[in-house]
Formats: sequence, structure tokens, C-alpha cells
Amino acid sequence: MILVIMTGCQPKTDPTPVSDTYFALGTVVTITLYDGSSHDLIDQCFTEITRLENLLSKSIEGSDIYLVNQHAGISETVVSPETMEVIKKGIEYGTLSDGAFDISIGPLVNLWKIGEEGAKVPAQTEIDQALMHIDYRDIIIDNAKNSVFLPYEGMVIDLGGIAKGYIADKVAALLDENGCNSALINLGGNVLTVGIKPTKELWKIGIQDPMSNRGDYLAIVDVGVKSVVTSGIYERFFIENGIRYHHILNPFTGYPYESDITGVSIISDKSVDGDALSTTCFALSIEKAMALIETLPDTEAVFVNQSGEIFKTSGIGNTVPFTQLY
Ligand code: ADP
Ligand code: MG
Repeated sequence: MILVIMTGCQPKTDPTPVSDTYFALGTVVTITLYDGSSHDLIDQCFTEITRLENLLSKSIEGSDIYLVNQHAGISETVVSPETMEVIKKGIEYGTLSDGAFDISIGPLVNLWKIGEEGAKVPAQTEIDQALMHIDYRDIIIDNAKNSVFLPYEGMVIDLGGIAKGYIADKVAALLDENGCNSALINLGGNVLTVGIKPTKELWKIGIQDPMSNRGDYLAIVDVGVKSVVTSGIYERFFIENGIRYHHILNPFTGYPYESDITGVSIISDKSVDGDALSTTCFALSIEKAMALIETLPDTEAVFVNQSGEIFKTSGIGNTVPFTQLY
């Protein structure tokens, strides 16, 4: 009661934002709360991110995905509902993209080791071997048992193209449930807004310049409650004999996709969709990727090509205000 009377007498000032950054999911995670929620809530978010990473990472021993992969060709593995949800989403995007996006890409990811020490172009025999084990349609799901089975030895699920988006959505839900009505989540380039800005204006989200350092923006989009996911091929790559090899791999050829796209930002309601779509776009030319995004409701995209030119879907600059910075 006393509190109510006191706040009633005070001039209205916005609460000081609380923010924290930590390293998870192989990237930098920053969460900022604008509505006066306490730092404890950020800690809860970090705990949730770690919990989900411990289920979904293929490299963390004992994770759901680690166990599913370990038991490939042997037996099914009972997984948590969250793991099941991401795998199903991944399979959905496999279907939508005609296999260009494939969560069973693991054998190729392990072979190329892009972004790791000692990455090199594998031998063709190794690539052929890896390709034999890649097909998301082979993943067997048992809904009654909540289990996943990879029927062939050598199959490996890798959720790197979708997990960050899924986790961002989970963090947003956690903030929501805890009554937070103004926050920004940034999972290494997957940005998600929660509620409204204290000023009641739209959020201004930077579109990463794919050729430049993280945080160098080439444009700004103004959004409400939205996810803005950027994927670029200039972050993780290596160069051999003058050729650049990046980390989004073609499950049909075994080599990195060759696309005129260097960066794409997807603006969508759910970050899981933005994440899968941004990875999928690299399988396509800008023209085809634009056409795909145009078919999806409430989804927009900004593309950058090899020459630095910007391409936008029809809602950018219309329903989504867009400011080009240079
Ligand atoms: P990041 O934001 O880390 O750059 P992306 O969302 O762009 O990640 O996805 C790239 C990751 O997706 C790769 O590191 C790998 O784990 C996985 N991946 C690579 N190729 C494919 C593919 N064709 N389909 C699905 N996932 C892929
Ligand atoms: Mg992705």
C-alpha cells in the first residue's frame, strides 16, 4: 500500500536498463531488460540457455543429441520434449527446402571442421562417405515413446542451423512468463524483442554488414515484437588455394553452397523460423530466396550479395520501416 502511494507522488522516470553478457552456444549472448525487472531474471535466462544447450549440442557429452548420435544404427534414444520439438522443426524445414536444409548434415560438418583448428578440404572419398549418411527423411521419431532413432551407423544430427533460434524463443517465453514486458535478447546475431520499448516506439534493430565486424550495421529496421536473425558466410570459413570455404554445406554435393548471397537477415515472429530460413537461403540464389520468403506470411528478408548490393522483400520499407546507413 505504501509503495503505491509513493510511486503515485514521484515523477515518472524510465527504469535503468539491466544488461548482461555471457558466452554460450559458441557465441556471445546478451540480454537487456528495460522494464525494471531484476538481474535475477537475466540469471534465470542464462540458466535456461545452458539447460537447453546441454540437451541440443552434439558436442556436449551426454546431451540428448550426443546420445542419439552415439546410438546411430544401434537403438532409439528417449529425448526431452524440447529436443523432440527442435528435431521436428528441423525436419519440417528439410521438407520445405527440399532437403537443402538438413539437420542430419552432421557427418559433413564433422568432416569439414569449418571454424575449427586445422580445417581443410576433405578427400572426395571422405565426402562421398559422409553424403551416404545424410538424409533427414531417414530420422525415425516415435511420438508415443518420445524417442529418436538414426537407423544407420554414421548418421549424425547437427542442430547448429536452428537451435539458437529455438533457444531465443524459449528465453523470450521465460521473460514473458516472469512478467517482463520490455527486453532485447541477442544470441550471437539472433535478435529477439520482448514487449515494447520504454519509449513506446518501435525497436530499432541493426542489420549486420556480412563483410564487416559484428556490430557494423548496414541498415536499421524498426520492428514490434519480432525476431531478426542474420546469417553470414564471412564469420566462419577458411581459405585454401585462394578459395573461400564457409560453414553452410550442401547435403547433395558435400561442398559449401555456392550462392551470390553473403548475408541475409530474416524478420519473422519466431526466431526458430528465422534461424532455419536464414541458413536455407544460402542454398538458393537471391532471386529464389526472395521468392521463397514472399510465400511465407509475416516474414521479410534483407539480402546482401557479393558486390555489397542490398535486396529486400516487399514488406521491407513498407510494413517494416527500413533505414539504409550507407
Ligand atoms: P551461425 O549463426 O552459427 O552462423 P547458421 O544459422 O548460419 O549458424 O547455421 C550454420 C550451421 O548450421 C553450421 O555451422 C552447421 O552446424 C549447420 N548446417 C550447415 N549446413 C547445413 C544445412 N545444409 N542444413 C542444416 N544445417 C546446416
Ligand atoms: Mg540458422
